[in-house]
Amino acid sequence: MSLPTVSESQIANATGSDSGKLHLLNLTFADLQQWLVDHDEPKFRAKQIFHWVYQKRTREFDRMSDLAKGLRSKLAEHFDIYRSHESSLQTSRDGTDKLLVGLADGGQVECVLLRDGNRRSICVSSQVGCAMGCVFCASGLDGVDRNLTQGEIVEQMLRLQDRLVDGERLSHIVMMGMGEPLANLDKVLGSLQIASSADGLGISPRRITISTVGLPPAIDRLANNGMPYNLAVSLHAPNEELRSQLVPVNKKIGINAVLEAADRYFAANGRRLTFEYVLLGGINDQPEHAKQLVHLLSKRNVLLNVIPYNPVEGLPYETPTKQSIARFRKTLETGGINVKFRQRKGDEIDAACGQLRRNREKLNAGG
Ligand code: SF4
Repeated sequence: MSLPTVSESQIANATGSDSGKLHLLNLTFADLQQWLVDHDEPKFRAKQIFHWVYQKRTREFDRMSDLAKGLRSKLAEHFDIYRSHESSLQTSRDGTDKLLVGLADGGQVECVLLRDGNRRSICVSSQVGCAMGCVFCASGLDGVDRNLTQGEIVEQMLRLQDRLVDGERLSHIVMMGMGEPLANLDKVLGSLQIASSADGLGISPRRITISTVGLPPAIDRLANNGMPYNLAVSLHAPNEELRSQLVPVNKKIGINAVLEAADRYFAANGRRLTFEYVLLGGINDQPEHAKQLVHLLSKRNVLLNVIPYNPVEGLPYETPTKQSIARFRKTLETGGINVKFRQRKGDEIDAACGQLRRNREKLNAGG
């Protein structure tokens, strides 16, 4: 089999294939057009192929009936559509599906589909493991193994889309699964380009949220990218000392640098910022913490998402009491903060924030 002529970056993007084929989902629309031209095919075929893969959810080239048989064979010879396999699926009574995806090189990531009214939101991973080391998080317990490829990120989206019944479509994406998306920004941006393009999944970029602990240079790159994605900054603490304890990467960055980068993002694209705050019983849920948050955020156009902690097996943190949640909320609201206490959908299958684990052994131990 002759190797297809694609850019080096596409080849580098193809991780762990035994088949020697390329991962189709690593290719943007323009990449596929170029591949077709390089292989003596008209580039308009890219539109048909994307339509079959992203809108009609076809996973076999042979079923792409409006392509000539010769082209279908050529595509099957050169490309895999799916590279991973579904290791397990857990479904909760509130309509949340959590998928454990086995990657071609043996790594595993998780992704989640949440059903809420007409919303069909997915939460997608960007790395195997995570290097940020947030002390309350299951995903970062063992550090990071590697970045996901663009195709591996897109494949999670498609596998969750496959779970929808006819007439349903994905409406929102949050890059909030395993990993720090801004530590794998190129591949995240490539996958979101496919997710948001009309030829891909057609999801409005305004319904796509990228979550980060706050890496200022990458936030600036994202701001310069020009796409109006929502930015969610995981704050988790209102002062330097506590944030450095809970989010160790903060020691190198500092809370002010994170807030200033978030302000630049807001100035660049006008999208209201979201700050995430996992509320840990007895740790960051005290009255002074709420007051410090008011001081930090009251002059900013932000939504503060407070997420009462979901207990993780093996970690010493506790869910805050109802009284401390109510007290915390009152201080924030009185201080003029636009605050939401997030519903903990998916709790029963450990699909809530900070509960995605990176290996099956631990999943079994924790789940
Ligand atoms: S909370 Fe997010 S950034 Fe922190 S360790 Fe977990 S996955 Fe990484």
